[in-house]
Amino acid sequence: MKLTISRSIVQSDFVKKVQEISGQNILACYQCGKCSAGCPSVEEMDILPSQIIRLVQLGQEEQLEAFKTMWVCASCNTCAVRCPRGVDLAKIMEAVRLLVLRRNENHIEPSKLPQELIEEMPPIALISNFRKFTA
Ligand code: SF4
Ligand code: SF4
Repeated sequence: MKLTISRSIVQSDFVKKVQEISGQNILACYQCGKCSAGCPSVEEMDILPSQIIRLVQLGQEEQLEAFKTMWVCASCNTCAVRCPRGVDLAKIMEAVRLLVLRRNENHIEPSKLPQELIEEMPPIALISNFRKFTA
């Protein structure tokens, strides 16, 4: 992964918005990895939860969007409980998802879901997925 890092990127509006929406101090994270070690969804993720917050710290908005980790996050809060720095990573994941969706970009396209999936899934699961993944 090639990263471009500069003061303007690290202090970009993206970083400020993630902090504002999540209410978290992004810089409090010192990359101990306890969040990733305890995450029950980590096997389905393509980068670790701790790597997500690192990319946010570095203002890497475009890089973040290439990964599915934030969409796989189940918002279970295990990471928040384990964090020695009091960082609620679930809220940071939610803030990054919201910023993508606010651009009116759906992460899933409801009309393209397979009919069998729609028939098999409980309605409540469909509704919660649409809430999480669509603008
Ligand atoms: S547990 Fe907290 S301090 Fe450690 S990597 Fe995760 S968010 Fe950062
Ligand atoms: S809130 Fe998300 S990142 Fe944190 S432990 Fe749960 S699934 Fe993993």
